[in-house]
Amino acid sequence: MPFSELHQDLDERASLGLLRQRRMMLSPQSPHINVEGKSYLSFCSNDYLGLANHPKLISALQQGAANFGVGAGAAHLVSGHTKLHHDLEIALAEFIGKPMALLFSTGYMANLGAVQALVGKGDTVFADKLNHASLNDAMQLSRANMQRYRHNDVVHLAQLLEKTISGRKLVITDAVFSMDGDIAKLPDLLRVCEQHDAWLLVDDAHGFGVLGEGGHGSLSHCGITSPRIVCMATLGKAVGVSGAFVAAEKVVIDTLINHARSYVYTTAMPPALASAALVGLELIEQGDEMRAHLHKLIAQLRSGFHELPWKLMPSTTAIQPVLVGDNNQALSLSERLRERGIWVAAIRPPTVPQGTARLRITLSAAHRPSDVTRLIEAFHELAR
Ligand SMILES: *Cc1c(COP(=O)(O)O)cnc(C)c1O
Repeated sequence: MPFSELHQDLDERASLGLLRQRRMMLSPQSPHINVEGKSYLSFCSNDYLGLANHPKLISALQQGAANFGVGAGAAHLVSGHTKLHHDLEIALAEFIGKPMALLFSTGYMANLGAVQALVGKGDTVFADKLNHASLNDAMQLSRANMQRYRHNDVVHLAQLLEKTISGRKLVITDAVFSMDGDIAKLPDLLRVCEQHDAWLLVDDAHGFGVLGEGGHGSLSHCGITSPRIVCMATLGKAVGVSGAFVAAEKVVIDTLINHARSYVYTTAMPPALASAALVGLELIEQGDEMRAHLHKLIAQLRSGFHELPWKLMPSTTAIQPVLVGDNNQALSLSERLRERGIWVAAIRPPTVPQGTARLRITLSAAHRPSDVTRLIEAFHELAR
């Protein structure tokens, strides 16, 4: 009976401290959440600017639904591509500083589509070992050869590029690594890509809206621009909505429109989400104060951790993981924080490498300094 195999697998996961379970939220995303009837101070959303429940986004969504209905009703290439999608694509391209942008329904799908449209059999994808799962899945699906380079090791990447003589070359990387919080060496990566005539796909899921002046993202933060860079970001994190986009040269976007299967064979995102995202983008652009506040909170957290037995991983971004190592210890730490009314998720393999289970603390501009103080104090209590 195949059921018994499934049970066996789940039991085994449970015994390793790897079973995954959901908790039911009874409130919108915010630093103060209600989970299954209890209130918590939360440090685990990617809603870095607190826009997911912002009144201006809510009313833009309502207005968008009033004008364009609920569902797009078709794929972009059939009859699902509305003026709201069009306007958002124009705004995103300008925001990123690329000729064109293309909307996808999720970041996961954007990565699948972009990689699969740009490379195939006989080509090679070069990927940082700590890339997001969606980039890993994307390269598998593309059927290109796969080469993984050591995390943020541009010398290793250059060696691998050197050895590859035929086919297209595509380097793919998280800009801000999603489970570590550190930033890719984008200027070095670009230089190596130029030397070896490779494309560079940058996944800015965690930098877009958060890094750079005006929240223009990791590329702007690093001060680089190049036609060979293909930029992807999600609208589900700092923008506070859902969906994603790829921004690039026109010929790249036209290629995606024609070849990206996760673009062609799926229903367009609801148009009302595009109007909410447009307002999110405006708030991001005007949000330098929010970002300055966020960076103060990051500094406050890091200095508060100095006297604690746990170490924060080296990160300057809103992702501030506490390295624990053992799966069950990470779970237990998360559980003990929860008993104190604080919600921080334990991240375990295979999301992170074996032996590097961690608590992934994320900060948001919606947190107050007193929230961070409470988190640090809770850790001090646990250390006693
Ligand atoms: C979240 C995330 C994605 C996926 O984006 P979604 O819009 O949530 O599907 C892709 N890449 C990275 C690095 C991410 O963190």
